[in-house]
Amino acid sequence: MISIENVSKSFLAKGAEAFTALDDVSMRIRDREFFTLLGPSGCGKTTLLRIIAGFDFPSAGTVRIEGADSSALPPQKRPVNTVFQSYALFPHMTVAENVAFGLQMQKVVKSDRQARVAEALRLVRLESMASRLPGQLSGGQQQRVALARALAPRPKVLLLDEPLSALDLKLRREMQGELKRLQQETGITFILVTHDQEEALAMSDRIAVMSAGRVLQMGAPREIYDNPKSRFVADFIGESNVLPGATVGHGADIMVAVRPERIALSMLASGLPGKIRGTITSITYLGLDTLYEITLDNGERLRSRSRQSISGLDAGQAVILDWPSDAERHLAN
Ligand code: ADP
Ligand code: MG
Repeated sequence: MISIENVSKSFLAKGAEAFTALDDVSMRIRDREFFTLLGPSGCGKTTLLRIIAGFDFPSAGTVRIEGADSSALPPQKRPVNTVFQSYALFPHMTVAENVAFGLQMQKVVKSDRQARVAEALRLVRLESMASRLPGQLSGGQQQRVALARALAPRPKVLLLDEPLSALDLKLRREMQGELKRLQQETGITFILVTHDQEEALAMSDRIAVMSAGRVLQMGAPREIYDNPKSRFVADFIGESNVLPGATVGHGADIMVAVRPERIALSMLASGLPGKIRGTITSITYLGLDTLYEITLDNGERLRSRSRQSISGLDAGQAVILDWPSDAERHLAN
């Protein structure tokens, strides 16, 4: 559906050196895919989305949409629509008028317009609110109006730039499910931008993890979680302990990553086997699981998570840590 080929983007600032926001980015996004650009603030996600939408143009490289070079096409000529971070509804227009707005711009005839507004409002479950003003809606409902407005022109690709970041946690979780359902029901290709790794893992068919203008890794959520290829990805997706190889019996030229939930603890005094010794520095009960912070004899710190709290363990106690060898990921140092 979308092919990004060696796209770079530099911004020129007066009296300063050019700043590279995207550095040789390539990816292919499939028809009907829920694809996510994930990375910390400033890594270039919005810049890439704007280039796909046509609000900005690459300094180098090509954007293809359905096979055709679209790098120089203006936004309205692309079968793409965007839901922005701030949903910016017109406050003096009703919900239905807000949703119809883009259709008027596109010169869709009135009878067709009404049918499409009704369809879009049904999709986001706001049929009963068509004649309200945005000020009479909750934040979550306003977000749905913004979604309906973007869906009404029936784009082939919907770009979503941190669309849930203004919502509180509970509503955000609920809207994640809604977005997923919308994507499946409409068959539209979704490209979501987020800095929230949980959101990306929960919703996406595939994720591109970005850092400093580059794509570090691309794959299905499970694949990225289970097989991070770099320290950045291991740290950014979920939680990882990253230890020097020599600390855990490997060469000094690698780092070893182990997820906290794969590390088992037992009291040193129990005599049970394990890979390495340490001392518990803190125990935090987190509801679903318990987090143990441990300082190794060489001063390295790591974390272990367990579903059951382990009886008899206390801060200050000497422990032995163990994990199966398939829990280790070896990263280049
Ligand atoms: P993200 O969406 O991942 O937070 P952005 O794509 O918005 O990141 O920005 C990436 C980098 O490019 C940032 O350092 C940002 O300051 C810079 N940038 C974005 N737009 C411009 C611009 N129009 N002019 C100069 N620098 C920009
Ligand atoms: Mg952004």
